[in-house]
Amino acid sequence: MKSALPSYDQAAAMVTAHAKRLSRFRPAVERVELSHASGRVLARPILTDRDQPPFSRSTRDGFACHAAEASTHGFLTVAGAVRAGDAPSGPLLPGTAWEIMTGAPVPAGADAVMMIEHVELAADGDAGRKVRLVPPRTIKPGENIVSQGAQGRAGDELLSAGAVLHSGQIALAASCGSSALDVFVRPRVAILTTGDELVPVDASPSPGQIHNSNAPMLAALVSAAGGEPWILPPAADNAEALGRALALAVTADLLLISGGVSAGKFDLVEPALDRMGARFHFTGVRIQPGKPTVFGELPRGAGVGSQSPTLPFFGLPGNPVSSAVTFLLFAAPVLAALAGSSEGTPRFALARLAPHPDRNGKPGLTRFLPAFCNFSALDGQPPEAAFVPWHGSGDLTALALSNCFLVVPEDAGDLEPGAIVRILLP
Ligand code: AMP
Ligand code: MG
Repeated sequence: MKSALPSYDQAAAMVTAHAKRLSRFRPAVERVELSHASGRVLARPILTDRDQPPFSRSTRDGFACHAAEASTHGFLTVAGAVRAGDAPSGPLLPGTAWEIMTGAPVPAGADAVMMIEHVELAADGDAGRKVRLVPPRTIKPGENIVSQGAQGRAGDELLSAGAVLHSGQIALAASCGSSALDVFVRPRVAILTTGDELVPVDASPSPGQIHNSNAPMLAALVSAAGGEPWILPPAADNAEALGRALALAVTADLLLISGGVSAGKFDLVEPALDRMGARFHFTGVRIQPGKPTVFGELPRGAGVGSQSPTLPFFGLPGNPVSSAVTFLLFAAPVLAALAGSSEGTPRFALARLAPHPDRNGKPGLTRFLPAFCNFSALDGQPPEAAFVPWHGSGDLTALALSNCFLVVPEDAGDLEPGAIVRILLP
């Protein structure tokens, strides 16, 4: 039975293929101010309103000159000064240079800027100051100048739809004179937690009960991945409760069900989905944690607006580490596709394995184990990742102390300290 399950790579390939198909259903578009654009997905490209940069600008404080003339080392008369914000000045006449500040427009006729650190100045009586490049240094045309339009011509597309807006993209929009941007409406992600043992976070659990930690955890993961979390009332472990809850979720863009997908007597999610006509893409993956993960689609008749006629869903095993890992591996890419995002997910990086207690591979399973990677060390080496001690996939302390998951490949023997390993980033 186990060997019939797809490997991580096979399951990931299925997710990618379905995500690509689902990405054809574009979300609606809304307009947001730049101050609210962080993390949103661009729906219409950013075009420049004028050449970028709009004038040839100096990248240094120094003296605008004609490179060939300056390289002969004769003294040049300082004809004037241009500051950032000044209108383009000039023209540059033979035998002269213009004092210029970073970001200021380069006078017409000048083709280079001598850095202030590379020149010597001399007084020239009534004529003011003279400047020359300190020999034997020479300068080439274009040095310390970004030409008008080098980053884009008026009307050019600088950033395509699908880009996720972070600080750099927002700054680019601002530099093009856009104070608001068209972004995709965030997909609404229904979060259905299941389990008779769950009580709300603000209720006191009786013996045997636990707080529902997956609902807020999944909501945080959904928000971080560009979705709008919609937490449904938790469902008890019986067919009627599950049926009612699932029926409520059909208007969502994506459905996450936590718990109830293992092989236990009260794991009733798969049969409930089956009764609703679900098509299952996979009902388990050879990974640990997260082996019972389910991926499929529910029919829902007419979608809302341009919504897909099917509702993609994931059944995530209820153990918190399993839910978090399988969300990142499988649900996040589908959410990104539904959000219109072109940013690739899941995100992996390479790290160096710290000395560690035994964390061997498990035959036939790719493992994703809570780890802490020291990203801030700058010693020219790949960052070092260490396993966080854990007590299995229910260990929320280990989850909270981790900042990534260390990937132990299916066929890994003993992992030697210092080995280069893959990590899954949140
Ligand atoms: P299940 O996948 O339903 O078999 O649950 C596996 C384990 O995860 C059990 O120990 C559950 O109590 C726990 N669990 C299930 N749902 C949640 C939840 N929403 N929050 C915290 N733990 C949960
Ligand atoms: Mg359960």
